[in-house]
Amino acid sequence: MARNRPDITAPARVRFAPSPTGSLHVGGARTALFNWLIARNTGGTFVLRLEDTDRERSTPESEAEILRCLAWLGLDWDEGPFRQSERDDVYAAAVERLKAAGAIYPAYETDEELEAQRAAARADKRAPVVRGRRDRDPAEIAELEAAGRRPVWRFAVDPGGETTIEDYVRGTVRFGHGAIEDFVVARSDGTPTYNLAAAVDDLEMGITHVVRGEDHISNTPKQMMVIRALGGQTPDYAHIPLILGEDKKRLSKRHGAASVEDLEAAGFLPRAAINALALLGWSFDDKTTMFTVDELVEKFSITRVSKSPAIFDMKKLKVINGRHLRLMANDEFTDALAGWLRSTGYLDGKGPEAEELVRASAPLVKRKISTFAEYDDLAGWLFRPLEIEPEAWETLTRDVRHSIQVIGGGLGRLEQLPEWTVEAIKEALQDQLHIMGEAARDFLEPQRIAITGRTVSTGTYESLALLGREESFRRYRETLAKLAELWAAA
Ligand code: GLU
Repeated sequence: MARNRPDITAPARVRFAPSPTGSLHVGGARTALFNWLIARNTGGTFVLRLEDTDRERSTPESEAEILRCLAWLGLDWDEGPFRQSERDDVYAAAVERLKAAGAIYPAYETDEELEAQRAAARADKRAPVVRGRRDRDPAEIAELEAAGRRPVWRFAVDPGGETTIEDYVRGTVRFGHGAIEDFVVARSDGTPTYNLAAAVDDLEMGITHVVRGEDHISNTPKQMMVIRALGGQTPDYAHIPLILGEDKKRLSKRHGAASVEDLEAAGFLPRAAINALALLGWSFDDKTTMFTVDELVEKFSITRVSKSPAIFDMKKLKVINGRHLRLMANDEFTDALAGWLRSTGYLDGKGPEAEELVRASAPLVKRKISTFAEYDDLAGWLFRPLEIEPEAWETLTRDVRHSIQVIGGGLGRLEQLPEWTVEAIKEALQDQLHIMGEAARDFLEPQRIAITGRTVSTGTYESLALLGREESFRRYRETLAKLAELWAAA
């Protein structure tokens, strides 16, 4: 890899510059994270800038959502949020300086004229770049203005020139200016374009390193030209790789999650989301996949970011999340699970004991789930009337007589129990299965199904304890009645 840059060690001023035109995508979150890690790891500054120059598509809702997602991930910013829509005077002043420097010129070409230029270039097999006429004299300009024409302002790109980026990730990248059009910096209504605003902000905000998605690399020479024409020093650049789904297609909801909101809704922990986002393009040693946020701050280095596309793999993310869940203390896990279930409306309408049941069942599911969304699979039966799922019913009805015997035996034994604890329940059922000469599985599986209706659930003894004596007996009898009905009909 032709990389000429050593790692970033001096305090860096970096920025995350989302356009508030939608939710925070996984790619945007990863860009925010890399910048945040560099700021934290060098003792630098993380600037948040909202690039809302597209007034049609930018919305306050999107802005609020992006800030909310950054807060959820724990990516706190040191300066901002700055809004480009509130900095018109800064861009207007920059445009005046570019005019004074002769770096930009008013372009009056009509859309038809520009299209004709592109067509001619294509016919010649040249890059379809457009350039305005730079040599209009004041009289001609006055005439156009009198006729009501208003120019856009274009950057006078020197077609013979070249811009070189010493990119942290991509190495040396050269752009010949022959393929770069005289890009617009200010529209005819005076509003700045993205390339102007971003370059001016990077300069004025003292940004030392621009770390962003590689889809922006073709903007970089333009922004460097603007900064240089303003007499500034260009920042260093790192263009980080695209993120694709496992099918190598652009990441979308089909791949399980495409935005931070999706990750949240799927029951991931912010720390696991951070861990997984960090691995999208970065690696520490090609084998370690578990990192706490503090470890990432310590270990992250832009020099270990790969330039090949990063693959978003939901299965890996779940494994990482499961490991983070198991590292949590029981209390922390319980609070986080209850909080998530509350926030997703899971507990709505489930009555006052629901939260207690969640808290009591939390330690039982901790070892078995990889995301909070899987809680319902294991413990959701607790909140619903008994409903025996088809697979479980099949298990019971393979040998109806046997099922009636072992379930009846279990119930009879439990009815005599003076105390209702996991230990007592376990001892009683273990003893009963020996008395009946049953194999553990053949005896215990029907007990579990009798009260949970499921083949997969929290453990049998714990489930009985959670459910309580009366409700457990009620469910035992309900199941026995169903089996008896089938037996009678046979
Ligand atoms: N506003 C741009 C985007 O959301 C980011 C541009 C940049 O980072 O320079 O894609």
